[in-house]
Amino acid sequence: MSRILIDQVGFLPDSSKRAVLDFECEEFDVRTVDGKCVYTGSVRHFGGDEISGEDTYIADFSELTETGKYRILAGSEESCIFSIGENVYEKLMRDVCKCFYYLRCGDALNSEYAGQYYHDPCHMSLATVYGSDGIKKDVTGGWHDAGDYGRYSTAGSVAAAHLLYGVRFFKGLLDVEFDIPKVPCNSGNLPDILAEVRVELDFLMKMQREDGAVYHKVTTFCHAPFEMPQDDKEELFLFAVSSIATADVAAVMALAATVYRDYDSDYADRLMDTALKSYDWLIKNPEPLLFYNVEGSNTGQYDEAEDFSNRFWAAASLYEATGDDRYKKDALIQKEKVLEFDKSAKTKGYQGDVLTCLGWAEVAGLGGLSILLKNDKDELCRQISESFVKEADRLTGVAEKNGFGLCMKKEDFIWGSNMELLKYMMILTVADRLSEDKSKYRGAVQAGLDYLLGCNSMDISYVTGNGERAFKNPHLRPTAVDDIDEPWPGLVSGGPNRGLQDELAMTLPGDLPPMKCYMDHVQCYSLNEITIYWNSPLVFVLASM
Ligand SMILES: [Zn+2]
Repeated sequence: MSRILIDQVGFLPDSSKRAVLDFECEEFDVRTVDGKCVYTGSVRHFGGDEISGEDTYIADFSELTETGKYRILAGSEESCIFSIGENVYEKLMRDVCKCFYYLRCGDALNSEYAGQYYHDPCHMSLATVYGSDGIKKDVTGGWHDAGDYGRYSTAGSVAAAHLLYGVRFFKGLLDVEFDIPKVPCNSGNLPDILAEVRVELDFLMKMQREDGAVYHKVTTFCHAPFEMPQDDKEELFLFAVSSIATADVAAVMALAATVYRDYDSDYADRLMDTALKSYDWLIKNPEPLLFYNVEGSNTGQYDEAEDFSNRFWAAASLYEATGDDRYKKDALIQKEKVLEFDKSAKTKGYQGDVLTCLGWAEVAGLGGLSILLKNDKDELCRQISESFVKEADRLTGVAEKNGFGLCMKKEDFIWGSNMELLKYMMILTVADRLSEDKSKYRGAVQAGLDYLLGCNSMDISYVTGNGERAFKNPHLRPTAVDDIDEPWPGLVSGGPNRGLQDELAMTLPGDLPPMKCYMDHVQCYSLNEITIYWNSPLVFVLASM
């Protein structure tokens, strides 16, 4: 089958624009939807690569800048419809942000805003502190993590942080409106993005124990069956506290305090108090307190091998928020531990420079973002800046090796490969800001977005409701059982995964090229789940555009 693979949403007028053909052809046309030819170009043969298994041909039409809706025609094939325009990503951005609203847990949904995706309040009972004498605690609220109904402190902190760093780096994110209930502040209402993040911050505050330590997660003992969240009535447990959760919460609370200060100083004070209390616990408990599931429990483990990157992030974020050198000293110590650990045992699964890793487990890159925001222009700031730029250079090098211009190697196609891509796109975005050459990394960011939105071997947009052939069957409990045809729009799929770790995925041939290790099926939790921290980096990247 011959196909023209393209970003099914479209392009900004001045961005690079390309389609990838998997068949030989000399020329291509770009035509309006009513058939008028507006551009003709030559097709360039690129050849094969190890990630797609395709013999690729490239149709570059970057010169076309006129706003409109188009198709590519080449040979006897035609592409999906795509747009060129200044506002081409507006719906996408709104949808991706609004997903956090639909994932709210507790009594936070309102049918006026959730429409057909409204469900009754869920998980409203008190949670039992696991292993205690029946001590119970209110931890209602926050976002469901993913296809399941668990709420996890590290994953939640990282997702909220991507959004908050997005606000710190790109002020335009504050203007994005996505139709959620208004939250008053001292100057009218909070911007939507801050109203939404506040839901998770309020929940994370409840996850803090009296002494400052933070519970790793609140879930039922085992994953709920496929049912609506309000029907999941099993007992909720607060599982053990961990130093990784405590550090991540300290970090995100300090970061949040810097953002909410302008809108609500009392709330910012509460955020900072939470951060300081957790940090104080970390100082009193210098040994890693890691987390593993208790026997028989199968909800997300979110385990990490050490807590150095988490402690580095906490120290860096508190330093940025307070300017107190005490935290900088701590950050320097933890950074060395991060580097030492990475040398002795290459950080799990991550192909890049560990100082740029942006979650969910390795979070040194998030600490790096705080150091870059502080911008002391000292040795630490220079080192972080260099790491981001060097990593971005590595990524653009990788992108030159395949026809899709994608900054991914075959090793990057792991569980949640789209998050690997989005983290890389965040790095390229940050490096673009640090670099003198203003457009050096934009091409690789665009190619990454194009891949996500349909310019890939599967010919699928990995964001629901965005693109003519967007995936439709996420591994997501409400979507599976709500009797509504389409899932809500804006969900990012985990994407291709060479590991093929679920039963249905295992039926795929084992020798598929990495980009094709995917199936749009509700049962494929290793290929097609959704999570809050796969949506959040896309918000950061779109904010930069
Ligand atoms: Zn819930």
